[in-house]
Amino acid sequence: MSVKRKSGYEIKLMREAGKVVALVHSEMKKIVKPGVTTKYLNDIAYQVIKDNKCDPTFLGYNGFPATICASVNEEVVHGFPSDRILKDGDIISIDVGATYRGYVGDSAWTYPVGEISQDCKKLLEITEKSLYAGLSKLKSGNILDDVSGAVEDVANEYHYSIIRHYGGHGVGQNMHEEPFVFNYRTNNNLLLKTGMTIAVEPMLTLGGDDVEVLGDNWTVVTKDKSFAAHFEHTCAVTESGADILTKL
Ligand code: MG
Ligand code: MG
Repeated sequence: MSVKRKSGYEIKLMREAGKVVALVHSEMKKIVKPGVTTKYLNDIAYQVIKDNKCDPTFLGYNGFPATICASVNEEVVHGFPSDRILKDGDIISIDVGATYRGYVGDSAWTYPVGEISQDCKKLLEITEKSLYAGLSKLKSGNILDDVSGAVEDVANEYHYSIIRHYGGHGVGQNMHEEPFVFNYRTNNNLLLKTGMTIAVEPMLTLGGDDVEVLGDNWTVVTKDKSFAAHFEHTCAVTESGADILTKL
């Protein structure tokens, strides 16, 4: 497996892209509420990205038709923005990428819409916790399985199912580069080195881990219709841990 290590300059460009992604998320946090459509969220995200000299990475990627993935409730990833109106008690996972001078930042977050159930609150809290557990292992000298295992351990501790068909990835000039990052142990002993840039993205559910793709060929849902959460940051590996690029 060939994993490209980025120069300091390349990481600087990725951090610029990442800041704009974080800016989109800070905007989403403000405007996600009952009564808005997912298309409205998409339009705002597009504008924020364009206003900040970036391009929306997802738009046109393998034919994807939008700036954000908007995945509501049992939708796990790759949902389309639409005229769907968010309602009280929904959860929405928003995944977004921005490209700055050819370099990509990629980050996802799940937001509560209005007042959500205690079960959903806990799901969001623990999925975020599993992300940061994984990131804490993203340092040079560790192996990739340390990252995957840390995510897995949090999910197991709280008895949530891990979506196994999807995971994190290397990121740089392409949104998806080597290595693939599972959210559970696979004995991947890839040695982490400074300059590797990796997106970690656990997806956990309140029910089972089986998923299916809807007839639109994109939207991934849980088969048992249980709600799913998704948290992701793009990071650079350093000697002391993850340097999170997708933050302000
Ligand atoms: Mg990703
Ligand atoms: Mg993403």
